[in-house]
Amino acid sequence: MAVMGEPSFRDSVDMMFNRAVALMDLSPGLEQKIRVCNSTYTVRFGVRLRGKIETFTGYRSVHSEHMEPVKGGIRFAMNVSQDEVEALAALMTYKCALVEAPFGGSKGGLCINPRDYEEHELEQITRRFAYELIKRDLINPSQNVPAPDMGTGEREMAWIADQYARMNTTDINAKACVTGKPISGGGIQGRVEATGRGVQYALREFFRYPEELAACGLRGDLDGKTVIVQGLGNVGYHAALFLSTEDGCKITGIIEHDGGLWDENGLDIRAVRDWMNTHGGVKDYPNATYVAKGGVLLESDCDILIPAAMEGVINLSNADRIKANLIIEAANGPITFGADEILRKKGIVIIPDMYANAGGVTVSYFEWVKNLGHIRFGRMQRRQEESRHQLLIDELERLSADKGLGWTLSPGFKETYLRGAGELELVRSGLDDTMRAAYQSMREVWHGRNDVTDLRVAAYIVAISRVASSYRSKGL
Ligand code: NAD
Repeated sequence: MAVMGEPSFRDSVDMMFNRAVALMDLSPGLEQKIRVCNSTYTVRFGVRLRGKIETFTGYRSVHSEHMEPVKGGIRFAMNVSQDEVEALAALMTYKCALVEAPFGGSKGGLCINPRDYEEHELEQITRRFAYELIKRDLINPSQNVPAPDMGTGEREMAWIADQYARMNTTDINAKACVTGKPISGGGIQGRVEATGRGVQYALREFFRYPEELAACGLRGDLDGKTVIVQGLGNVGYHAALFLSTEDGCKITGIIEHDGGLWDENGLDIRAVRDWMNTHGGVKDYPNATYVAKGGVLLESDCDILIPAAMEGVINLSNADRIKANLIIEAANGPITFGADEILRKKGIVIIPDMYANAGGVTVSYFEWVKNLGHIRFGRMQRRQEESRHQLLIDELERLSADKGLGWTLSPGFKETYLRGAGELELVRSGLDDTMRAAYQSMREVWHGRNDVTDLRVAAYIVAISRVASSYRSKGL
């Protein structure tokens, strides 16, 4: 997607890394060790489909094994390449370090357009790809744990988990070989929407600080802010849905693979998604203005721009026309190195991908722990928590009656207070805490050092220092 004269995605990530390490005090050897990608496995395999053999190419790249297992999604898309998986694997290393998920970084991809295949064909292809990776321990609960990414979801993760279990019949931790599974297949509540939820939590955290708002020329809270979202897939849909239905944001623009939609009064996200599910795209959606060249909507006026589709979409060809005050990178690598520089000069604040879309890996971490623990979160303590709360309520009511105080608890309070936390509440709490803590660590560097002027460099500095101390503690 990068335009002429721009570095590849992999080089772009390395250049962003280099900007940060230039401000750090790492030995050149350690700096190089952290930067390089440890290994990339390429596999070509044949699957018999519709009476003939079709050959597919897939990759699994491991960027850093300073912590194991390594973690990172598997993407199904036509433009998957070694360069792309290596860039994404590197981002995973830094992302996990930033949100303190105890993993190294990895990523996988298969060159395929999933829309071209029937479900049973996709299952055959996915299982065969998984087989190739499993037999080389590139899918394994203690070594390498994939997750969904572009073009994959719960369904594919369930096939992968089942394939692993078939090949490792005595592995009691088999389900932990992959995350993002459906609940019935060992998944966790809140994983499907986790990345979008994380984008929402990241924005809420950003909006807590007047200094942050001043930096991008915004005021107030999220209520009424205009938002343009590119990609109404897993990440973009959930982010847009939560921001519009829970925080009062107005989603004025949506950009999809077949064009864009515009409504300055705010689009109904559920309705657009329903339309996409039945029609395959946004074209002909009746309740908005359709723009055939959707990409131009990236350049429209808005408070917040959320690229949530793919890498390289904001590049040297359009960066100087971007008008948003704030960009939150829900996709990985949507802004190229050169565009990043232009946007910063224009005073646009960027909440970087490494942080912005870390909600997915955070909840994947919870799912992996759940699988290893073989118990759903909240199962042991929920009712005990409720009975302790009940004790307090009973005591308050008794005191009120005994002393004739006439206290009554406000409507809804009792039900809310009495309800013990189930898995979903605990996942949300853990995700919110993670997003806040990670933001704090970036913020300290951003505001605490004169030589750091943006959140991306701050994020890299935090992440690289953590990876570096992990390597140092191993004696490297
Ligand atoms: P997805 O496949 O669910 O959705 C991607 C959406 O983008 C689709 O609706 C697709 O039609 C649309 N799209 C494709 N090409 C487009 C184009 N040229 N212009 C506009 N829209 C286009 O994928 P996803 O899981 O939502 O991932 C999106 C991004 O978020 C990727 O960069 C991915 O790496 C990143 N991400 C995903 C997760 C996750 O948990 N799924 C976690 C972290 C980061």
